[in-house]
Amino acid sequence: MQQQLDFIAYIQRMLNEGDFSATYKFALLHAIADICVEHPLQQPDSELVITLDELVDKFILLYWHHAVPFTAGSNGDAALLKQNTGKQSKVISVLYECQQNNIRNIRQLKQSQYWSEIYRATLATLKDGPLWRLQILSKQAECFLYLHTNSSKFITLNSGIAYSFRRFYDLVVYLAKNAWLQKIQSIKDNQQLIGPQSQLQQFLFGVDRNALNKARPVLIEIQRGQCFYCNKPLNNNSADVDHFIPFARYSTDLGHNFVAAHSACNNSKRDHLAAQRHRDNWQQQNLVEHTAVLSSELAAYFYCDAEKSRAVSDWAYSVAQANGAKLWLSKDEFVYAGTTTTVVAKPLILHINALAANDQVATEQAADSLLLPYFPDIKIACGHFKTGDAGNAEHVAAPIGFGTLNPEKHFLAHASGNSMNGGKNPILDGQLLLLELISPTSAGSLQNCTVAIERQDASGDNQYLLRDVKKVADGQYLLIAKNTDYPPLAADETMRTFARLKGIVE
Ligand SMILES: [Zn+2]
Repeated sequence: MQQQLDFIAYIQRMLNEGDFSATYKFALLHAIADICVEHPLQQPDSELVITLDELVDKFILLYWHHAVPFTAGSNGDAALLKQNTGKQSKVISVLYECQQNNIRNIRQLKQSQYWSEIYRATLATLKDGPLWRLQILSKQAECFLYLHTNSSKFITLNSGIAYSFRRFYDLVVYLAKNAWLQKIQSIKDNQQLIGPQSQLQQFLFGVDRNALNKARPVLIEIQRGQCFYCNKPLNNNSADVDHFIPFARYSTDLGHNFVAAHSACNNSKRDHLAAQRHRDNWQQQNLVEHTAVLSSELAAYFYCDAEKSRAVSDWAYSVAQANGAKLWLSKDEFVYAGTTTTVVAKPLILHINALAANDQVATEQAADSLLLPYFPDIKIACGHFKTGDAGNAEHVAAPIGFGTLNPEKHFLAHASGNSMNGGKNPILDGQLLLLELISPTSAGSLQNCTVAIERQDASGDNQYLLRDVKKVADGQYLLIAKNTDYPPLAADETMRTFARLKGIVE
C-alpha cells in the first residue's frame, strides 16, 4: 500500500519537477504504462524487463498520428505541430518524411526501406533523451522506476513498479497526456496554429475513425449481422465499431478489441467495461473462433496480437475488481465486477512449457522414444474439482496411435471419479488420459469437446475437472458430465479451460 502511494507521489513529482523541453518524456511514461498492462505479471512485487525495442515500437506508434499536419478550422493553414521548444523533434520529422513518401500506416512503415533508419533515429533519441533523464527531478536522479544502468538493450522496472503502473494506468496516462497537451500548447510556434477553440486533444490522442470503418464489415460478418451486445439485427451500415476494452481505458487500437454494436448499445456502454458475460463472448468470438480472420483482415490497419488483447483485458478486469467497479450489462443496467482469481502461482500450462523447454525432448529424441510429461500427483477429477500438484512431473514414453505428439502440448494424468462414466465413450476412474493444452489461438471451438478445466481454490492451489463443454443461448457455458447423475455446472470466471481430452491410453 505504501509503495503505491509512493508511486503516485513520485509520478506527480516527476511531472512537476522534471525538465521538459520536448514531449519525449511524456511519451516514454505513456509507453512504459502501456507495456506494463500488455505483459501478464507473475506477482505484485515482480520486476519487469522492458526491451528498448519495445519502447521504440511504442514511441513510433504514439507519435505516428502526431506527424500529420494539424489544422484547427476548415479554412486554416495546416502545419506540423512542434513538439520541442527549439527545432522540430527528430521523431516527428522522420515520421513526417515517411508519410510524404506514401507510407500510410505502421505496418507499411515496418515493411518499407525507411524502417531501419526510423528505428535507429528513434532509438538514438530515446537513449540520448528521455530514457536516462525521465527520473531527474529538480536536477537530481531519483531512480524510483528503474535504475539508470545505461544499458543499450533494456530497462528493468523495480520490484512492484509494473504492478503500480497496472493499478494506476488510467491516472498515469491521463496525467501524461494532459502534460503532453499542455506542453504542445505552450510552444510559441504552435499557438497561432492551434487557435482558441482547438480540436487538439482529439487530433493528438483521439480515435482514428477512418481505420475503425475498416473493421466494420468483417465484424458484421463474423457476428452474422447481429449486435454484439443485444444480439438483435444490425442495420448493415449503421453499426458502430465499439472498443470492447474502452479506448478511454487503454488508448491503443488493437485489432482484436473491436465488436460491432448498435449506436444505442454503444452509447449506453460508453467508457464502461462490459459485464463478464460479454467478456466471455468477446473472448470466444475474437480470441478463439475468429482470431485468424481478424488478424488477416485488420493487420493492415491495426496492431493485431490476440495474446496482447487478452493480457490487456485481463488487466482491465482485474483493476475493475480491485476497485469494486461496476460493469455495463445492457441499457441502464450494471453489475458489480465479480471476483476472479488473480495471479496463478504455478499453473500447469506454464509448468509443462517450462519442462519441455528445459528438456528439449521434442527435438533431441527420435520419434519412437518421444517422452511426454506425466503428472502422477494430478487427478483430473470426474466428479467435483479436485486439487492437484503440478510440482511433481516425470517423463514417460508417448503412447502410440494418437498421431503426432509434442511434449510442449501433450501430457498425461489420471482420471479420478465416476462422473464421466456414461454415454458412448465413458471415462473410468483411474484411466490414464492423454491431454492437449489449448491456448486461445489453438483452441478452435470447444463446443461438445471433453475439456479439462482448471481453477484455483481459496488457498491458491490448482484444481482440475473433466467435463464436456456446451455453449448455451446467452453466451454462457455449461459443463456437462457424461454420467447423468451429476447435474450440469455453469462455467464461471474462476475457471479456465486449459486442455482438451485427446484420448484414453489403454
Ligand atoms: Zn444492440
